[in-house]
Amino acid sequence: MASTEQSRPSVAAPLSSIGLDVLLSAVQNADVESTLHILHKLDDLLATGSTHRIHGLIIKDTTEYLLNAFVNAARDCSTNYSILVPLLKMLAKVGHKDRQIGARAEKLGAVLLTLNLLKLNGKHGRRTAACLCVIQVFSSTASTANLIGENQGLDVIYELLPQYTTKHLHILKAAINAFAALLCTKANICLAVSKGHISGLLEIYEKWHSKDTHRAAIEICHALLHCFYKVTRITAGSQAFVSLGGINLLYQTSQKCLLNNSLKSLVEPSVQLMRKCLPRTPLPLTKDESAYTFPLPGRPVCHVDVASVENNEESDEEKTENNQDTDDRDFDDDLETDVYKLRKCPDPDRPKELLAQYSHLCPELSHDFQELDFSSEVEEGSTSSPSPSDDEVRTLSSYLCRSCRTDKKNSSVTDDSSEKETGQTEGQTAAQKKSKYLTFFFFLRSSAAPLFKVCNFHSHTLSASPSFTTMVRKAKYEVPLSRNGGELNDVEKEDKHFCHSSMIDMLLERHKTSIPHHEPKLYCSAAAKTRSVPGFNILSFPDFWGHVPPPGHESMAQRKSSIQRQKIFEDVQRFINTKDIMKKVVFDLENDSIPYSSECLMFYSKFECGNLRKAIQVRRYEYDLILNADINSSQHAQWFYFEVSNMEADVPYRFNVINCEKSNSQFNYGMQPVLYSVKEALEGRPHWVRAGTEICYFRNNFCPARGSERATFYTLTFTINFKHKEDVCYLAYHYPYTYSTLKAHLNVLQKSVDPAEVYFRQQKLCDTLAGNSCPIVTITACPVSTTWRDMNQFRNRPYIVLTGRVHPGESNASWVMKGTLEFLCSSDPVAQSLREAFVFKIVPMLNPDGVINGMNRCDLNCEDLNRQWCKPDPVLSPTIYHTKGLLYYLKSIRRTPLVFCDYHGHSRKKNAFLYGCSIKETLWASGSDVTTVGLKEDPGYRTIAKTLDRIAPAFSFNSCNYLVEKSRSATARVVVWREIGVLRSYTMETTYNGFNLGIYKDLQIGTKELKEMGTKFCQSLLSVTKDTKALYSRALKNYVSIDCNMQDHKSHNCFEDDEPPCVEEIEYSKCCLPLKGIDLDFEVNINIPSSDEEKGSDDEQTELKQFQNTMGYKWIQA
Ligand SMILES: [Zn+2]
Repeated sequence: MASTEQSRPSVAAPLSSIGLDVLLSAVQNADVESTLHILHKLDDLLATGSTHRIHGLIIKDTTEYLLNAFVNAARDCSTNYSILVPLLKMLAKVGHKDRQIGARAEKLGAVLLTLNLLKLNGKHGRRTAACLCVIQVFSSTASTANLIGENQGLDVIYELLPQYTTKHLHILKAAINAFAALLCTKANICLAVSKGHISGLLEIYEKWHSKDTHRAAIEICHALLHCFYKVTRITAGSQAFVSLGGINLLYQTSQKCLLNNSLKSLVEPSVQLMRKCLPRTPLPLTKDESAYTFPLPGRPVCHVDVASVENNEESDEEKTENNQDTDDRDFDDDLETDVYKLRKCPDPDRPKELLAQYSHLCPELSHDFQELDFSSEVEEGSTSSPSPSDDEVRTLSSYLCRSCRTDKKNSSVTDDSSEKETGQTEGQTAAQKKSKYLTFFFFLRSSAAPLFKVCNFHSHTLSASPSFTTMVRKAKYEVPLSRNGGELNDVEKEDKHFCHSSMIDMLLERHKTSIPHHEPKLYCSAAAKTRSVPGFNILSFPDFWGHVPPPGHESMAQRKSSIQRQKIFEDVQRFINTKDIMKKVVFDLENDSIPYSSECLMFYSKFECGNLRKAIQVRRYEYDLILNADINSSQHAQWFYFEVSNMEADVPYRFNVINCEKSNSQFNYGMQPVLYSVKEALEGRPHWVRAGTEICYFRNNFCPARGSERATFYTLTFTINFKHKEDVCYLAYHYPYTYSTLKAHLNVLQKSVDPAEVYFRQQKLCDTLAGNSCPIVTITACPVSTTWRDMNQFRNRPYIVLTGRVHPGESNASWVMKGTLEFLCSSDPVAQSLREAFVFKIVPMLNPDGVINGMNRCDLNCEDLNRQWCKPDPVLSPTIYHTKGLLYYLKSIRRTPLVFCDYHGHSRKKNAFLYGCSIKETLWASGSDVTTVGLKEDPGYRTIAKTLDRIAPAFSFNSCNYLVEKSRSATARVVVWREIGVLRSYTMETTYNGFNLGIYKDLQIGTKELKEMGTKFCQSLLSVTKDTKALYSRALKNYVSIDCNMQDHKSHNCFEDDEPPCVEEIEYSKCCLPLKGIDLDFEVNINIPSSDEEKGSDDEQTELKQFQNTMGYKWIQA
């Protein structure tokens, strides 16, 4: 035997098997002494050779022999415990490594024999312990566990518990472990519940908590928690546990544990159990579908089937979504390995005749530049669209009029502090200043309180402003207007125009903001034309007033340790102390008649991009917020943007967004929401800033109001200390960027360029479903002269096509696009070179309707537009249909774009990076046996990424990848690459959070960095021209040729996630990351039953493992 002990496994295996055979055959007939000796040797043998293979070889035969020996000995009428006990011990030991031991024992009749021995030997510690350990391992097979249960096994063991509460702790522990092992089947759990064992176990748990804090006691508590964990795996068990006060007990005991270091290990499993058992609470909504609906052309309003979209739900370009700790193997089956599909261009999705219509989107190709005067060519679509005129300013006024009619409440910026805060101009009385300040708020803020109160309030405090009070009083009597409906009489109209526009003028005059590329009045006139589904008629202040990035950088938020636990405790308290919870609805999109209360915050979201459906005060300073689902859908809540007012200063307000849907968030990794304060803005700091403390994101116990109870939601919680009392603030998921902002911005840009130099053309690509125009912009340099040579160069410039914001919640994409647009219109010499080298076709916002209506993922058709590129529907997905049409048109006239890039935002990763398309890398990564030798591929697909790596501090080269996945086959990147034939076709992703590399390391991203990324992307485009240096020096400015000889370089594995799997057990329960592959060690050690479970066994293993991990404790010890 000794020879096996030091051997390497490969040698040990055959030796030990042979030795074992001899040994085992001896067991059958040996006398007591030699049996004991053999068992001892067997023990040694088992201790050697740590590989599973050896164990596998040994175990099967060993258990069989041991079971036989045990059955023989136990049936012997002169029951000899001196041999039975060692045999039982050995069986327990071997049994831990043999998943089939239960079945084998059952077959040989060993199960009931053991149970019988246990019944007979309740007073004999050693024998009892040995039997319990064997019962525990036998229960690894569900049918065996049931057999034991049917034969009063649970009762027998339960009876043992109280007898040993102070002495013989190892027996108590063995009994609890055996009991837990038996609870692996539904039948046994039901038995335990019906016989009242659960309340007994709870009693014991409480007793142990109060009595003892020594290590042994802690182990017993852990073992009991394990029982509870098993019991609560089925609904009946969970209900029994809750109704017997289990949650209460765990809450109380874990509070005590927190105060005692030696008990801390009990806290996490207790928290986990409480979360698991908290009853599912339907969201307090009347329906899960969006509060808004939009009738689609040609079909009745219907809501998508929840299940049908579930699979696609997380499928941005966010491939690591559910695979935090995964390796690239996991992606294999999604990689496209069909070389035909990779190489062959599919047939066009439409007949050639339909392409001619797109020639009007390329006016540069037919323009003759006879007079290089472009002043008259400002146009949008076929109709001309003059830069904002008095007419439009008037529109603005009536726009705001509507605001004041529907906008009901204004409270309270009446304290003394408002005076000094606004007192920036001379020559006015304090009263005048105040009144103007307040008046302004009246227009631009919004809330849901009744008009009358507000009016009274204001007519009292605002007596110094007659025009204002007149206006408010009038507003009370006016018939509300629909967007297209009724008319004001002329007198009223004039009156309003006068007071509104003059007041806005005054404010703008007083608080001069010089926000680059932003003009508030232009914004208003753009917003007046924007069509929203709910008919928004109120502007949010930040969009109107504008934003400049705050000075300096904003670091990522530090995560407070155990913050999540603390928040969960607070949530558990809601369940325990229901009477402390207010549940006062303070805002509801579907209910305008909520009375105003000075005691709580006011919320509002009925403005462009706004998304807040309901706000509920739950405690004095805590609010639950429910986001609106995407229109015509019941899903996709993640983006938020709302107004909050009526606050006290320096009080921690806790906000819980309770219906988030993504399974993890950068909010767990240093990201903060953004906040904009009107008071701050009027004091000269018009900044969206990162704000919020105590931020965390975790799964909660809410479920859909009507939908599947199994669907899960996540809570984003954060705490804000508002700086000013009675301020009006805005909170958002990310820096908002509205459709109206884009329209205004394009107009500003258009005015900013010298038309003799920059060819800037804004056109309408098409109308959206809701009737908004989707702008397309052409930017290039005007030809130097109309000579043939210059015109020829002009007409032959390669095209670059850029698109963005197909996903409305990705406002970061719009800020990057803003950077791109501003740079391309700038006088920077590189921008000049780019204009001379290329024609840029830009569709900055592919999904205006989604953006306008505060949606997160889809368009009004309830589809992810970035999955529509294969066969876009001309009616339902017009922006995609026509963008693709334009690309087809360019291809048809042999002007296939050189580069295509679609701008996105990424919610799970840091930095900015590109996804591209490479046949070779895809085949390599898939492990496909298709040979890539002889496969020709443009090696330049990495050029832009390489350049960005050098010049863009936000860019992460290692996060890029170039794999073509089947699940992405209908995205812009893949379709434009495969179908249009653009070799350098990309998705550019930019983080919502911040950076983990380079000079921005540990900072959150701001609009400055987002815009910079847009600039840098443009600059990198010079790298696709052959002689970059020459281009920069502008020596060869007119003659650019394309470099196709860029060297390829080594492939990177780009799939590693940015984050460790968890900060502090972000997910506790089974709904999180599936365990890939089976962990043998785990299974062998734990002896997981493999069937007869109410819940799937895969799930269970993961679940149990996670549970166990939080314990740092092995449940079952041999
Ligand atoms: Zn996206």
